[in-house]
Amino acid sequence: MQALVYHGPGRKQWESKPDPKLEHPADAIVQIDTATICGTDLHILKGDVPTCAEGRTLGHEAVGTVVETGDGVENVRQGDRVLVSCISACGRCRYCREAMYGQCQSGGGWILGHLVDGTQAELTRIPFADNSLYKVPEGLSDEQVLFLSDILPTGFEVGVLNGNVRPGDVVAVVGAGPVGLAAMMTARLYGPSRVVAIDKADSRLEKARSQFGADVTVNSDADDPAEVVMGLTDGLGADVAIEAVGIPQTFELCTDLVRPGGRVANVGVHGHPATLHLETLWIRNITITTGLVDTRSTPTLLRLVSENRLDPQPFATHRFTLDQMMDAYQVFADAAKTNALKVVLTRS
Ligand SMILES: [Zn+2]
Ligand SMILES: [Zn+2]
Repeated sequence: MQALVYHGPGRKQWESKPDPKLEHPADAIVQIDTATICGTDLHILKGDVPTCAEGRTLGHEAVGTVVETGDGVENVRQGDRVLVSCISACGRCRYCREAMYGQCQSGGGWILGHLVDGTQAELTRIPFADNSLYKVPEGLSDEQVLFLSDILPTGFEVGVLNGNVRPGDVVAVVGAGPVGLAAMMTARLYGPSRVVAIDKADSRLEKARSQFGADVTVNSDADDPAEVVMGLTDGLGADVAIEAVGIPQTFELCTDLVRPGGRVANVGVHGHPATLHLETLWIRNITITTGLVDTRSTPTLLRLVSENRLDPQPFATHRFTLDQMMDAYQVFADAAKTNALKVVLTRS
């Protein structure tokens, strides 16, 4: 088969590789029909994820068809169309039993395209298939469900649910990349009074407003986000501030934007320490949450897409076939110029 293989920082190739085989009774082999690329894949390629070994097939987001299952697999069968979750779950350990699958202690968690070979390939082996694959509801296209592998549950769980967004809230989302936009889209499920999108790229802010549910947009190079948010809230601040960038400045901005008693939900993947201004925060009853996605909301999100309550398709901005993987990476990595949100690669 062909697969996108990581060969150390800055090096990758779409190349031939042996077909994956069942290695454990809980495994399934899935033919990849539709895949996408994640910002995390770019982090790996920069060398930010040293736990990812050279020779690893990248990717943790896909929709496919089950071609083979191990003896222990009960929930899916050969021929089933399935959504591959970015999080694998044993379903049995202490964390899995609390639906905190991202912290699975038995070899699950974020392993695909990281600790085991991933989904940017023609075939992939899915460990713990019963708890890591979801049947695609009848009538839905691959593209309608693809972004439920990762960005939708991440924005929803780590942003909206951790931030405890409630009806009437003013929700400020710092970062209008795919995950920030996913947080805006799913925040709307809770009836906020205002969703404020903050970013430095006008093209992304425009998309946030026209397609992802932002009511107010702020280009932080042109305007002071704190001033705008204070102006909207009688000087109090946002009820919830969601950090979806992953740099110290944006985290610190979130702690400036939030009202006393409010919540800061950090979604961004951080590579450097940020300053926690406890000297000003301690007296203001601020709650700060962090987290890796668990994908416990995936069944709920699938139901919402099925019932037309959520439409993730605007995330798809560029389309390729799987064997155009290298071109797709280039377009995705150059998002500032190409305006790419998510690239969709389909089996030709
Ligand atoms: Zn991802
Ligand atoms: Zn587990």
